[in-house]
This record gives sequence, C-alpha cells and structure tokens, in this order.
Amino acid sequence: MAASSRPAQPPLLSGKQTTLQAQRLGEALPCLRAAYEQALGRWLGDPVLRLVGVPFITECYRSAERQNELYAQGRTKPGLVVTYKRGGQSKHNLGPPTPALDVAFRLADGSVSWSGLLLSKFARLMKYADARVVWGGDWPSFKDRPHFEVLGYEAKGGDERG
Ligand SMILES: [Zn+2]
Repeated sequence: MAASSRPAQPPLLSGKQTTLQAQRLGEALPCLRAAYEQALGRWLGDPVLRLVGVPFITECYRSAERQNELYAQGRTKPGLVVTYKRGGQSKHNLGPPTPALDVAFRLADGSVSWSGLLLSKFARLMKYADARVVWGGDWPSFKDRPHFEVLGYEAKGGDERG
C-alpha cells in the first residue's frame, strides 16, 4: 500500500519517551510545568500542528558537572558553542524544582526537529499560558530557541543567556 493512501498519522512518543517526559516535567517548577502542560494541550488540540510534530522536553534539571561539559563544547572540546554559562550559572542548574526547560519536536517519521518555526509557534503558546515564561528565541544576542525559563529565579550567572 502506498504511503500516500494512508490517512495522516500524528507523531507519537514511545512508552519509554513518555515515561522520560513525566520524569523531566516532574523536575520543573510548578508554574513552568503548568505552562508546558497547557501549551502542549493546545498544540495537540490543533488539527494542523498535531500532525506536524509532537513537542517534548529534551532537558530540565542539569547538574553543574553536565553544565561544565556543555560549556567546554566549542571551547576546549570540539563542536559548536551551545551555552555561555558554566556549572552553577544556568537556570537549568537550579533545583529541582528547576525554572528552565528545553523543547524539541518528534516528527511523524520518528526524527527529532529543532525547527525555529515550530519552536516560535510553541513559544507563543507557552507565553500565552503564563506571562512569566521567557523564550530564549526572544533574546537579542545568543538566541536559544529550544529554551524556556521563568522570570524571577536567578542563578549565579548574572545575565539572561541560557
Ligand atoms: Zn535551556
């Protein structure tokens, strides 16, 4: 049977991925968790968006040790710079409960996407759900589009970059 003759199937998370989602969401600050759940509900309730991809949390709490590993990337280790924060300086290092989480999308073919267009659509839903939610894609210098955080919970780092 040709793929085109099948009705469009929405992308789904596997059982293991669903368990991991619950675990990561459980690390989030309650207001961030509530905003994510509301945004996810609206996304999955949209007849078009739900067929494009399903949002999932790639990371919430991050240990200072893991933060230092990420900081080394693009500096003393190969790869692109992904953060400007050392261990203890990121909002991901607070908690749990943690005032930051990162989002990606699982597409219908099983691949993972960090599409700026999808992330900006999800960001609109997150900000609508709770006005305290800040999207990393709105930052003027280092745009961190997968990143969401809640205002009012400061890590040691000082500036706002992820
Ligand atoms: Zn982040």
